[in-house]
Amino acid sequence: MTLHGGHMRTELFIDGQFLQGEESAERILNPSTGELICEVREASPTQISRAVDAAHRAWPAWASTSAKDRAAMLLKVADHIEQNAAGLAQLEALNCGKPYQAALADEMPAIADVFRFFAGAVRCMTAPVATEYLPGHTSMIRRDSLGVVASISPWNYPLMMAAWKICPAVATGNTIVLKPSEQTPLTTLKLAEFIASIFPPGVINIVCGRGESAGATLIAQPQVRMISVTGDVSTGQKVMEAAVRGIKRTHLELGGKAPVIVFDDADIGEVVAGIRTFGYYNAGQDCTAACRVYAQKGIYDKLVADLAAAVSTIRIGEPGDVGVEMGPCISERQRSRVAAFVERAREEKHIKVVAGGKIADRRGFFYQPTLLANCKQSDEIVRKEVFGPVVSVTPFSDLDEVIGLANDSDYGLASSVWSSDVGKAMRVAAALHYGTTWINTHFMLVAEMPHGGMKKSGYGKDQSMFALEEYTCARHVMVKLQTK
Ligand code: NAD
Repeated sequence: MTLHGGHMRTELFIDGQFLQGEESAERILNPSTGELICEVREASPTQISRAVDAAHRAWPAWASTSAKDRAAMLLKVADHIEQNAAGLAQLEALNCGKPYQAALADEMPAIADVFRFFAGAVRCMTAPVATEYLPGHTSMIRRDSLGVVASISPWNYPLMMAAWKICPAVATGNTIVLKPSEQTPLTTLKLAEFIASIFPPGVINIVCGRGESAGATLIAQPQVRMISVTGDVSTGQKVMEAAVRGIKRTHLELGGKAPVIVFDDADIGEVVAGIRTFGYYNAGQDCTAACRVYAQKGIYDKLVADLAAAVSTIRIGEPGDVGVEMGPCISERQRSRVAAFVERAREEKHIKVVAGGKIADRRGFFYQPTLLANCKQSDEIVRKEVFGPVVSVTPFSDLDEVIGLANDSDYGLASSVWSSDVGKAMRVAAALHYGTTWINTHFMLVAEMPHGGMKKSGYGKDQSMFALEEYTCARHVMVKLQTK
């Protein structure tokens, strides 16, 4: 199937109006061919400050709407996403190179569900009942919005990340200026079309451009009260530095290097199927990708052999083609980064490349699904985030050793434990320093449960009731019961 972008939007969305960016144009490429899809002009500093002003002006009226009314608008967006799922999935597949079928079947329903979850959740948000801590005085807690939120999203799941940012922010009465990744703005700009017909002007604004220019200008605006970013660790560090000056709240969803702990008693068929899917989903460009496997010595040889065979069967190809399981890397730059990681790993004599290990012989930015065996804890490939279709396997002896190896990482986003002994898996889960631990699965997210990291993977929660807390301030109101 040939993918079509449909009626694409390339304009910014500020104060309810669509307008072209005033700075230089970013070339938006189709990663599966390297061809130009369209150009999107970057927002100028004046346009960014206009967007923040609009959000600031819209905030008081928006914050005083009822949760019920805000929920109704979120539900309408969910309906639009569902009705336009095929077009949005095509646009996402075109811009990111991800298989269309996966974007349609996995991502679009989950995105609509995020809007629906927050529509319901905000109506259930409660504060502790009023009570008396000081005689003659009643205390109560309010959870109120913060003001203008500046949100910055990455290129791997553009529309999903836009939903994760927009929904909890506006559900709780904040207004938002969102900057999508300069590489993948197209579905977020399309979303603006639905928003324009549903939300009051200024509540949700979208500005485009590069991180170091448009992104940095956005987060530096004095009226911005909170910055939420999903991206690289180095980006999170810059955001924290910028936030210091204005004492702005920050929410950082950063990188990951998920350990996948496989005990001898695991169901090997399930493990192989799980890593084949979740190590290479979205070409491994996922902060929770099952990329750092630790296999117990009794299962190690068979796991490596079975995985190598399974990984070699992953079907790569054009995102629109039926049966394609893996697309390209997002850019030539990203693919070169991935290739350089594998070349450096190959130089370590003990590492064995048992599947893939090369740039794919086709147009576009494809890299072969790659499996590296016999890796050591000190190897770069085990320690650094590759963000590509590369999985390492390292042997281990016992439970205590593997807990140490898994936690010996700068990252703390996601992890998984595979064993038929659930008690053992639970003991390991309790000892891991990761925001999420899956047992006998990996990667699965639900809107009701929090997603967020520890250590350099950042802090703060996306999804779930915790996100509503993230975007609100708990305020104390005390009433003196008798004035005379
Ligand atoms: P990136 O950090 O390069 O870019 C992310 C966003 O930040 C983009 O919109 C970019 O323009 C912007 N940005 C960059 N520098 C900035 C600056 N100085 N000021 C303001 N904004 C700036 O990341 P990426 O390459 O788009 O995405 C890949 C990274 O994102 C990986 O490290 C991955 O692990 C991480 N990620 C994390 C999660 C999570 O939930 N923790 C989810 C997806 C991706």
